[in-house]
Amino acid sequence: MPSGRTHDSITLWSLPLIAGLTFARTQSSSLTLCIAGGYLFSGLMFGPDLDIYSYHYKRWGWLRWIWLPYRRSMRHRSFWSHAPIAGTVVRIAYLLIWVGIFGIGGGLASAIACQLIGITNDWSLLAQQWFSSSRLFFEQSSQQYSTEAIAIAIGLELGALSHTCSDWMTSTYRRAFNQRSKKAAKSAQQPSLPPDLLPSSSNNDPMKPSFLEPPPQTRREPQLPPFRRRRDDGIGR
Ligand SMILES: [Zn+2]
Repeated sequence: MPSGRTHDSITLWSLPLIAGLTFARTQSSSLTLCIAGGYLFSGLMFGPDLDIYSYHYKRWGWLRWIWLPYRRSMRHRSFWSHAPIAGTVVRIAYLLIWVGIFGIGGGLASAIACQLIGITNDWSLLAQQWFSSSRLFFEQSSQQYSTEAIAIAIGLELGALSHTCSDWMTSTYRRAFNQRSKKAAKSAQQPSLPPDLLPSSSNNDPMKPSFLEPPPQTRREPQLPPFRRRRDDGIGR
């Protein structure tokens, strides 16, 4: 797969194209900002490579530990991290779970602290009020900014897609290159005789070099045994 720097370059170089196409399509600066922002965030630190110790993971700084369960629960380049749509949906849901944990934990801790310093007498009542007002805020915001939320999700998905596509293209190229190298190595191991020196199946080939033919049968002159040799042999010659 490409290096983190290559992924960064692809994200940054394609960002003006994404922003330009979005603005041309929507004629809305806020939607363009949402899609471009989502694309940049996904390409730089919310991408599929959060499933390994990657540049995505490291950019979360001291908060990077929240991705440890994600990293450990899935194989690198698995369907749930690198597949289109599924990977982004899983990461958004995972991040929302942490936002919920931080929100609830932070609310409870703040309410208890308020009771400790004497601001309230009942921390649970205060926490309940905070949670109900927070829920109301999120409900109103999701209704009011639903288009922007969808635009951010599209930006996140586009950033992940650019990553997955560059991963796939690099893997395909490397596979093809390795196969070609293996073939070249195999053909280099075979003896490179010129075609006229290669063994032929036919024995009647006029172009066949003589040294590749089996040696000719030596014909032996039949010799008479000595006792049958005529005594007058050689007489009169
Ligand atoms: Zn990847």
